[in-house]
Amino acid sequence: MDPKLVTLCTYQFAFQAEMARWSLEQAGIQSFVSEANTVTADWFLGPALGWIKLEVAETDAPAALAIFEQDPKLSKPIPNYQEEVTPMTACLRCGAAMSEASDTCQECGWSYLNEEMS
Ligand SMILES: [Zn+2]
Repeated sequence: MDPKLVTLCTYQFAFQAEMARWSLEQAGIQSFVSEANTVTADWFLGPALGWIKLEVAETDAPAALAIFEQDPKLSKPIPNYQEEVTPMTACLRCGAAMSEASDTCQECGWSYLNEEMS
């Protein structure tokens, strides 16, 4: 009879689940990443699909959780990841779209450079 699988942790990104899976494997614990292909292909549907799950046999769960407690980054999604990669693309004064390469708004002449100096 196959052991019952339990979801140990859920992740937003496949690489995070793979990193955790690799760490568990080093400790001799077999784990499984599920829904990774689906979520990677349609990443914007991630929340609706319940993210990417890392599963282990129920009997291995306590040992796996102990490893996660020793290395907390394995069980935590990267905070503010979306904010960090979002470029400044809108004028803060009029809201017009701005080129990433440009510091000055084409619509109203507002500039990020002026903002930093004031
Ligand atoms: Zn503007």
